[in-house]
Amino acid sequence: MRCEIIAVGTELLMGQIVNSNGAAMARELAGLGIGVYHQTVVGDNEERLAAAFSLALTRADLILFSGGLGPTNDDITRETVARVLGLPLEQSDVWVEKLHEFFKRVNRPLAQSNLRQANLPRGGKLLLNDRGTAPGIFLEHEEKIIVLLPGPPGELIPMFHNQVIPLLQEKLKNEDGLAVLKSKVLRVTGLGESVIVERIKEVLERQDNPTIAPLAKGGEVHLRITARAGTGMAAERLLEAKALEIREILGDAIYSEGEEGLEFSVAQLLRQKKRTIAVAESCSGGLLSHRLTNVPGSSAYMLAGLVTYSNEAKVNMLGVDPQLIESEGAVSEGVAQQMAAGARRVGKAHIGVGITGIAGPDGGTAEKPVGLTYIALETGDFKLCRRFEFWGSRPEIKERASQVVLHLLRQYLLGKFKDR
Ligand code: ATP
Repeated sequence: MRCEIIAVGTELLMGQIVNSNGAAMARELAGLGIGVYHQTVVGDNEERLAAAFSLALTRADLILFSGGLGPTNDDITRETVARVLGLPLEQSDVWVEKLHEFFKRVNRPLAQSNLRQANLPRGGKLLLNDRGTAPGIFLEHEEKIIVLLPGPPGELIPMFHNQVIPLLQEKLKNEDGLAVLKSKVLRVTGLGESVIVERIKEVLERQDNPTIAPLAKGGEVHLRITARAGTGMAAERLLEAKALEIREILGDAIYSEGEEGLEFSVAQLLRQKKRTIAVAESCSGGLLSHRLTNVPGSSAYMLAGLVTYSNEAKVNMLGVDPQLIESEGAVSEGVAQQMAAGARRVGKAHIGVGITGIAGPDGGTAEKPVGLTYIALETGDFKLCRRFEFWGSRPEIKERASQVVLHLLRQYLLGKFKDR
């Protein structure tokens, strides 16, 4: 089933709001194995909306509309869809009743313009909306499925999830008897999305059932594999066969096949190898310690987490050389290494970690830009320090720094670095 999403609203075109509805629906459809082939954004203009819809009818089996179902004159989705399909609009008594109840409850008169919201193109099925006055519409017309949903995400997302998805699942089942849908996520670390897509290009190009949806998220990439089959076991077999193909290509860059983040995989390795850890954080503000301690049973390996934000704290708590801070600056390779060594010593741990960087948005220079981060690991007989230039907002830079540390720790624990 090929899908196209049409998001309606001039404010979307002008960049005043972001089309998060399109993204939310596309993600959920990928989980169903339905491919979104096009997403169109169009303003509140009847002719351009009609043209976008007519084009979508030539290339999609499922067309989802977001927005333009309100009571005002610039809300034109319902009328335009009916006109393009040549269907009359018919008033839904059920929704007229709902509108009367709603306006009575809020003690406001029901305007004629609101009654327009009870109109459905002939044959359309009403999708209930508990949070607003515009119902959604599910319409099957000449082999096409057309769905109209109101724009506010607080209305659209639950309606899509609770009403549209089950109807689509039913359709898919009737289409090919493949009633069971299962998916699994392969979580990949240390490789960018484009590199992964390039490496598994051939698998992606051949995808049909199962489908594979890559998603870059928080410094890692998720590959969601979704299979449809007649039984749960058959779907599992399809998933496993596809996961095996991908595993053969990406190897241990895949750190997990479940819902849990990289900290869980690092925690498991620390336990297996009976290693303990102490971390000294500056720019990441404790995020790494937070992630490491999110794992139940973390006291088995996590001995100390120090947020040494000021130079004095780095000197007094970790024993960083004040002259080194003076000569190299707090964000430097030497300071990261001394932070790691200090954390290891103070925490009496096998592994020490040091993170120092500039999270921004201010404080960057040409030589030391925002995002510059040094990350050091220290184990006594092994030392490593890497320089990174992360991009993004302050929270994103903190997130990336913690993610990279976890990635390096995993590499170390898997024996990927040669000890020296
Ligand atoms: P209403 O009954 O509230 O008028 P509507 O169906 O006419 O709903 P719009 O008027 O198009 O929807 O949008 C209402 C609000 O919903 C917008 O101001 C915006 O905040 C939000 N919105 C609309 N479209 C999107 C979208 N594609 N992604 C995220 N938010 C959206």
